[in-house]
Amino acid sequence: MTMKTEMLGIEIENLHLAFGPTKVLTGVNLSIKPGEFFAFLGPSGSGKSTLLRSIAGFGPRPSGAIRIGGRDVLDLPPWKRNVGMVFQSYALWPHLSVQENVAFGLRERKLPGAEIARRVEEALDLVGLSHLAARMPNQLSGGQQQRIALARTVVIEPQVLLLDEPLSNLDASLRVQMRRELLALQRKLGLTTIFVTHDQEEANSTSDRMAVLDKGVIQQIGRPQELYDHPANLFVARFLGTAN
Ligand code: ADP
Ligand code: MG
Repeated sequence: MTMKTEMLGIEIENLHLAFGPTKVLTGVNLSIKPGEFFAFLGPSGSGKSTLLRSIAGFGPRPSGAIRIGGRDVLDLPPWKRNVGMVFQSYALWPHLSVQENVAFGLRERKLPGAEIARRVEEALDLVGLSHLAARMPNQLSGGQQQRIALARTVVIEPQVLLLDEPLSNLDASLRVQMRRELLALQRKLGLTTIFVTHDQEEANSTSDRMAVLDKGVIQQIGRPQELYDHPANLFVARFLGTAN
C-alpha cells in the first residue's frame, strides 16, 4: 500500500440507468485518466451517487459500458472491480475497535493474521492515527472517524478510489483541512480517484478535472479553470456562479 499501484483509467460509454419511470443517468460518456483526481460536481439529485455506485458495482446494472484498466466491469461484482469506495455516511461498526474496523474487509478476504496486522498498521499510519488503534468509534471526533473510514478503504489496496461526499458530515474548517489530506494521500498512493461533491469550491480546489452533472446528464467536462472561464451553457455558468 505504501508502494504506488499500477494506475488504471476508467472509460464510461453511453451509460443509461432508470429507476422505474425516473431516468437517472442518460447517456453518460466519460474518460478518466490513470492517476487522475476527478470530481463529479452537481446539485443534489443530479445522479452523482448513482454514477459512482454504478462504477463500484452497487445497485441495478446500467446499460452501456464501464471499463476499468481496459477491462469491462459491468458484469463483475464490486469486489472484483479493484475499487474502494467511501460512502456519504461512513458509519464505522460501533461495537468494533478502530483496529478491528480497519481489519474487517481483510478478514472477509481470509488473509493470514500477520498480513492483516501489517496492512492495518500501514493504513492507520497513512491517515496518521496509529495511536488510536484501540479506541472505539464513539471515542473519536468526526474528522478521526472520517480518516478511519478512509483507512478501511485503502487497506484493501484498491486501484481506484471512489469517494461519495466523504467530507459532508464535517464542519467547514475541518473540511478544508481534510481535503488537503485527501489530496496528499491520493498523490502518495497514485490512485485514480473520483470525488463526488455538491460543493464547487471543494471540486475546484482538489480536482485535476471535473464533470458537472445535471439531471443525469454531463453538462461539461474539463479542468476547473476551463469551466469557470468558459462555461458550456447557462446551467454550468449558474451553478459555478459565473453567470451575470
Ligand atoms: P446525487 O448523488 O447527485 O444527489 P442520486 O444519484 O442520489 O443524486 O439520485 C439521483 C436521482 O435518482 C434522484 O432523483 C433520486 O431520487 C433517484 N434515486 C436514487 N436512488 C434511487 C433508488 N434506489 N430508487 C429510486 N430512485 C432513486
Ligand atoms: Mg449523492
